[in-house]
Amino acid sequence: MKPLTPLLRRAALCLPFVATAAFAQEAPAPALDEAQFRACLRQLQSTPAFRAITPATFARHTDGLRPDATVLPLLNRQPEFSLPPWDYLAMLVDAERVADGRAALAQWREALARIEAQSGVPAAIAVGVWGVESNFGRNLGTRPLVTSLATLSCFGRRQAYFRGEFAAALRILQEGHIAPDKLTGSWAGAFGQTQFMPSTFFRSAVDFDGDGRRDIVDSAPDALASTARFLQNAGWRRGQPWGFEVRLPPGYDTRSASRKNKRPIEAWRQDGLTLADGRPLPASLPSAGLIQPARAHGGGPAFLVGRNFDALYSYNASENYALAIARLASLIAAPEGTPVAFATAWPTDDPGLSRAENRELQALLLMQGHDIGQADGLIGARTRDAIRAEQQRLGHPVNGRAGQKLLRALKNGA
Ligand code: CA
Repeated sequence: MKPLTPLLRRAALCLPFVATAAFAQEAPAPALDEAQFRACLRQLQSTPAFRAITPATFARHTDGLRPDATVLPLLNRQPEFSLPPWDYLAMLVDAERVADGRAALAQWREALARIEAQSGVPAAIAVGVWGVESNFGRNLGTRPLVTSLATLSCFGRRQAYFRGEFAAALRILQEGHIAPDKLTGSWAGAFGQTQFMPSTFFRSAVDFDGDGRRDIVDSAPDALASTARFLQNAGWRRGQPWGFEVRLPPGYDTRSASRKNKRPIEAWRQDGLTLADGRPLPASLPSAGLIQPARAHGGGPAFLVGRNFDALYSYNASENYALAIARLASLIAAPEGTPVAFATAWPTDDPGLSRAENRELQALLLMQGHDIGQADGLIGARTRDAIRAEQQRLGHPVNGRAGQKLLRALKNGA
């Protein structure tokens, strides 16, 4: 998935139903010229990228197609707010997702064991990616891919990139891997239980259940095996952990910490780093880089991360994203009752909310008379407006952020 910029990948994948939904309510869509769209599609058909697409396929999927102007504001979106790492992690790694992940691990145990034997990617890692990407196949995205990608191929600032994805999407349909009405996804074209872009599909999707189709939409075994293949292609090392949380010696300078600045484990030992519980660093990871996601906020948990963390990173070009998957996978594999929180607290007195707590907050906002629709656990524009109003009323800092302090105040009947 390298061709997409980190920003675009994050927009496409991370918290798609939070950030994207919130923004879609706010940004007006431009008017698009349909004649221009038709002319663009006619011209595209004769370009080399579409050589493998037959005229019949092209006509079947583009005749009468109308552009979807609502994808363009999402393409042009600036990162309007960036969540602090503790909010990001709280939403993606909560007790609910760990429990769902354990259930998924049990349900697909046999397929996962074979996938792990073949690829070297542990079952819990494949399930962790699945949980973060599509909530174990529950959230695949509902935008028709052909419509979104055709629109982005003819309008906006990344047309050359999206034309390749559009052609790949048509090839998926032509080869019959996915039925046309099942090919839906994010506004940018990520689809299926693994949220692959169409070009990634051809690099990494696998037919694992043996029906001849690489069906990452409806087949969990295909999706899990495809995730493992993606990580294998990204350099996954069999038998190595992704990394581990560490305890830093007092006053340890983390300014030069970096995922990429890898050193032998022995060098970290000599610096005085240990596992978070004080045990010595294990030799299972030959070399590692140090990351401290909230360093800019004053410290917080630190991690030594190896090559397999880099493989997770390549899924979405975000260290917090990779950490969410890594942590979720560790918790899914850990004994039941293992605390969700890291050993070292985040440097905040107002931690983030799990999805269950988001729903609780929304229920309280509804009780206060705010028109925020359903308490679905997704913090969109209307919930943020209601949060701002309550923060104002309570004399809290007014920032629209869903956090523990506000939840506690409303629960206590403030
Ligand atoms: Ca299949």
